[in-house]
Amino acid sequence: MKKYVLLSFVAISMLAACHESANHGAGVAGGQPNAIDSAAQAAAAFKKTVISLVDYKKDPACGMPLTAGLEDTTRYKGKLYGFCSKECKEEFLKNPDGYAAKSK
Ligand SMILES: [Zn+2]
Repeated sequence: MKKYVLLSFVAISMLAACHESANHGAGVAGGQPNAIDSAAQAAAAFKKTVISLVDYKKDPACGMPLTAGLEDTTRYKGKLYGFCSKECKEEFLKNPDGYAAKSK
């Protein structure tokens, strides 16, 4: 009889522990700010990677350093160009040779 009581006590404390960790897990998964943070971190990491891949560290259209902002890229004659905005990319594509020459 004593053994049975002890066993049920262990079972109850295990259930309680499970319940607590389940609650904790749900709290983390449901944490919107955490999800946004990791998305922002992933975006920042992605931009760092792209900046390390572009052949020039400046936006060829406006001359802005890409570390200040990188929205788009295009490959032209084997070189990868980064742009601070879609407008700059469009500007570059109007006269890629002219801007490419300036980038050198
Ligand atoms: Zn620009």
